[in-house]
Amino acid sequence: MSGFVFPPAPTPSLAIAGSTQRFPVRRIFCVGRNYAEHAREMGDESREPPFFFTKPADAVVESGSTIPFPPLTAHLHHEIELVIAIGKGGAGIAESAALDHVFGYAVGIDLTRRDLQNAAKDKGRPWDWGKAFDNSAPCAAIVPAAHAGSPQDARIWLTVDGTVRQDSRTAEMIWSIPEVIAIASQAVELAPGDLIFTGTPAGVGKITPGQVVTGGIEGLGEIWVKVG
Ligand code: MN
Repeated sequence: MSGFVFPPAPTPSLAIAGSTQRFPVRRIFCVGRNYAEHAREMGDESREPPFFFTKPADAVVESGSTIPFPPLTAHLHHEIELVIAIGKGGAGIAESAALDHVFGYAVGIDLTRRDLQNAAKDKGRPWDWGKAFDNSAPCAAIVPAAHAGSPQDARIWLTVDGTVRQDSRTAEMIWSIPEVIAIASQAVELAPGDLIFTGTPAGVGKITPGQVVTGGIEGLGEIWVKVG
């Protein structure tokens, strides 16, 4: 028997493409806005340093899942995102060394209760209930970096019930993959298992119960989830 008063929760993990091993998820960091066109659609014209918010590690959901429609929202939004999977930790990582810390990349969806996020923004309150709820981080299998193509210049897209909602290129990111890693590592010491959702292009929108959300990034495959 262990010394715990009840069994510790299992380690959240994701599949790894081409492997039977799993990627243990430690923390989830997300860039707040990283595509100029999406920043504009959210009413922001400035080019400020990136800011981050977090989701709990056990918010990850694998591709092919049905996600229960989350409570407290009438505006559940999809945000298709390139996800960086950190394999080697570090603090104060130099941009020039940042890619050495990457295990791989994946297609993720930053599910957002937009109504709660906007209410929090208006009142200067934390975004957690808008962003960090149960099942809010669907993420496809992680593709090891060596097999990931050119994630910094790849098509990124999302459809809802077959209708294209988001369609852009990761080259449109305001802050590049090495910059995001370097800047995040100035705030916290990154650790193996950390995921960084790198922001979404324009075209975010509402999803309703029963809809199927499919997204992809060239070189990284696809993700799909159904909203229950
Ligand atoms: Mn996002």
